[in-house]
Amino acid sequence: MLAQLGEFCMNKNLCVVITGAGGFIGGHLVNYFRQMGVSRIKAADIKPVDEWYQVFDDVENHAGPLEGDCRDFTVCRKLCKGADEVYQLAADMGGMGFIENNKALCMLSVMTNTHMLLAAQEAGVAKFFYSSSACVYSADKQKDPHVTALKEVDAYPALPEDGYGWEKLFSERMCRHFREDFGLHTRVARFHNVYGPEGTWEGGREKAPAAICRKVIAAVISGKHEIEIWGDGTQTRSFMYVDDCVNGINRIIHSDILEPINLGSSELVSINQLVDIAEDIAGIKLNRTYKLDAPRGVAGRNSDNTKILDYLGWEPDTRLRDGMEKTYRWIYDQFMSKYDTGSAAMQTTSTFSHGSKPIPGYGWVEESRHMDTWKQGIPAGYGKPK
Ligand code: NAD
Repeated sequence: MLAQLGEFCMNKNLCVVITGAGGFIGGHLVNYFRQMGVSRIKAADIKPVDEWYQVFDDVENHAGPLEGDCRDFTVCRKLCKGADEVYQLAADMGGMGFIENNKALCMLSVMTNTHMLLAAQEAGVAKFFYSSSACVYSADKQKDPHVTALKEVDAYPALPEDGYGWEKLFSERMCRHFREDFGLHTRVARFHNVYGPEGTWEGGREKAPAAICRKVIAAVISGKHEIEIWGDGTQTRSFMYVDDCVNGINRIIHSDILEPINLGSSELVSINQLVDIAEDIAGIKLNRTYKLDAPRGVAGRNSDNTKILDYLGWEPDTRLRDGMEKTYRWIYDQFMSKYDTGSAAMQTTSTFSHGSKPIPGYGWVEESRHMDTWKQGIPAGYGKPK
């Protein structure tokens, strides 16, 4: 893959800012540009550095609420000063269990996006990338599990995912107007369900592939061959492997694609089929129970890749089975190094109602309703943030 990179990012003598760098995709993006030999990388995240998924000593790490909170305009200004390219990935988000129950927190990411855009404009950066989401698409187009894949035009008339999707749609629109009115080179990709190693796999913010891997692993280790699935398992999705995601980001920011574009796999599966894949990797069959009152999101969603193929002659193409194998192995190692086999049974369930680990340093109130259930299914020892 690296051999292809030079074609898209011509100039390695760059200063690149990546926000949300302590998170899943941001961590992979930092590593991707490191491997390309980009000369200066500023990696920023509100989390303390010991909570980042990937930390690299050869980049500038701006961590924690004082150095890395991109809601704070002063922080954004410091980050953007002298930068050539900005990759705005920071967001307060998670899987369906998180975004359905934390709409206000999701919408507050508008501060991050606004301040990063303003600071990038002020600093005169050459390129600005914004990570939007398939959650911007109209709910009306996603009622049937036998989906017609979503085209970019399907975002309007707008009826996005409440909270998270509205914020993403607003911010991608703001990128457009910064480009049209102020001449900032903005590029926007709508990610469709990204998965892979070095991401959230427990705690309430994890997404379906990681949650399913974790539950299957817990069943393997505990010998209790059961799995709880959110919804009835017929809901369909496509899942993009993280290597394809970072490759696509690089292609899109260095392209002349002005409008928001899908960045996702078009390999559609039901959640039941995703469980089949994880079981196959683990070499077991589990008794399935369905939690029908759990958050399940839209009935069906897939990425129509006509446009990205037209523009770039490329689309994300890692087979789900191959990506899941790597993800499963990584989560297995994480699980084994963190928990003893005695606590494995508890991991088969996870919380979804009003609960998730909040961003440290902001809004942590033990008694708050946001805290009340996030610990369910999580073994003792999963501590609150420092
Ligand atoms: P993630 O939660 O792993 O990473 C996001 C990071 O942003 C976290 O580490 C968080 O601490 C950080 N952050 C939050 N608020 C911040 C702030 N004010 N200042 C600095 N850092 C802050 O999520 P991810 O999966 O890596 O997602 C990256 C981006 O891609 C997000 O914008 C997300 O909305 C978007 N996206 C992701 C997916 C997916 O499937 N993972 C799908 C669609 C869109």
